[in-house]
This record gives sequence, C-alpha cells and structure tokens, in this order.
Amino acid sequence: MDTQENGRTSPLVVLRDVAKRYETPAGGVDALVDVTLEIGRGELVAIVGRSGSGKTTLAHLVTGIDRATRGEVVVAGNALGSLSESALARFRGREVGVVFQFFQLIPTLTILENVVLPMELAGRGSFREQQERGRALLSRVGIEEQATKLPHALSGGQQQRAAIARALANDPALLVADEPTGNLDSATSAAVWQMFAELNGEGKTVIVVTHDRETARSVPRAIELADGRVARDEVVRRSSSGSSSSSAEVAHA
Ligand code: ADP
Ligand code: MG
Repeated sequence: MDTQENGRTSPLVVLRDVAKRYETPAGGVDALVDVTLEIGRGELVAIVGRSGSGKTTLAHLVTGIDRATRGEVVVAGNALGSLSESALARFRGREVGVVFQFFQLIPTLTILENVVLPMELAGRGSFREQQERGRALLSRVGIEEQATKLPHALSGGQQQRAAIARALANDPALLVADEPTGNLDSATSAAVWQMFAELNGEGKTVIVVTHDRETARSVPRAIELADGRVARDEVVRRSSSGSSSSSAEVAHA
C-alpha cells in the first residue's frame, strides 16, 4: 500500500507550523497554534488533551475534513492545502479512513451497504468485488451476521465495528478515529482498542483521539494538546498488554 514515490522512510503525516482559527460572530477562536509534528508509517498514536484543546480540529485537518488557516499539512505525500475541493474529496475517500464517536453510519442503508459505499464512491472494483470485500471486512471486524441489518438494529459496539469496516473499505494507509470509544461501555471500548492495535500490527498507521488517559498509556506514542499546542509528545515504551515490561519493546515505530 505504501509504494508512493516519496518512499517508506518519509513520514506519513507531516504538520508544519499549523494554525487553525475559527471565525465566529463573537470573534476568532485559535483552535490550533504552531503545531509541528510528524507521524511515521506504521505508528499507533494517541492524541490526548482536555476538552477544547484542539484534538478534533487536528483530526479534521489530517483527514482533509477541514483546512488549516496557516502552515502545511502533508499526508501520504499530498500537500492538502494545495488540493482543490474535488482533489481533497478524492483524498478523503481513498487515503484515509475516519471513525467517529457517534459512528455516523447512514441509517437508511444496511450495514453491508454502509461498508460498500466508499468503494462505490471511489469507483473501486466491480459490484461483485465490492460486495465480497464488504463482507470480508465485516467478517474481519466480527459482525458478518449483521450485514443485512440496518444500523439501529445493532448495539453501539457493533455499529462502531461497522464504522471501522467502512473506514477500511478503500484500504487507506491511515486510520483516524476521534473518540471512537467515547460512547461505548468499557468492555466494548477495550475490544475496539484491541482492534486498532491489531490493524496497526497489520501495518496501518492509526491515530486515535481520546481523553481516556489510562488507555492512552497503553499506546506506544501519546501526543498531548493543551490550548491548541503540543504540550507533550512521548513514546511510552510499554507493551499494549499494559504489563510493566521495561524498555524498548514497542519502540519500533
Ligand atoms: P477537542 O476535540 O479537543 O475538544 P476542538 O478541536 O473540538 O477540541 O476545539 C478546539 C477549540 O476550537 C475549542 O475552543 C472549540 O470551542 C473551538 N471550535 C471547534 N470547532 C469550532 C467551530 N466550528 N467554530 C468555532 N469554534 C470552534
Ligand atoms: Mg473533540
């Protein structure tokens, strides 16, 4: 998947001096200020910080849902600031998979149709191939028997699994999840985290926004935002099992 001319060694995500200001009737809100960071291919990174610190804004800039006010955002070799609206839409559809707190499945489509939709929009494969891949992805996340149901018939955890399958539809190098477990009970949350860890083990670069510090501690790298700035960026060199294994076990990324 990572056979772009910019090669394996270049970071998948680069932010340089990025700022995001929202203009509101009450004045400007500086959601991100001077953010510079790099995320390498194959990393699993948690973005942490209090409510309002800029986490969702950062996720929106990296996924091309929104544009930076200043600075440069480069993802998989695409300088997002210089893409036209249609090129940015294409980027969103193919290069990144996004998972939201409230799943955001289309309520009138079946689970399988939700997963197939990104492939249809990207014009990827035949109808038959799309159906087969959609079913394989549902099986991958453990809910193949829910394929023909509508989202409301599923539990929250199952809907989030479906949303993860949808995010994987076009085999993006990068998965970005914004508080994906914020609406799930703790056992279900653990299963979802486990799934991100597995996908990362299979080579996906995964960025998970969370304000669950405890879970974030089990992730190899945590970037903390405070008031729109990077307040901390550390490699947590611990195994994802949460055991107290000492040093470089997960420092591969
Ligand atoms: P987090 O996800 O960490 O809670 P956000 O990125 O959502 O933080 O928000 C960062 C700051 O930007 C907050 O002060 C928030 O109120 C403000 N903000 C976010 N989105 C908008 C918007 N669309 N318009 C105006 N202000 C916004
Ligand atoms: Mg948020």
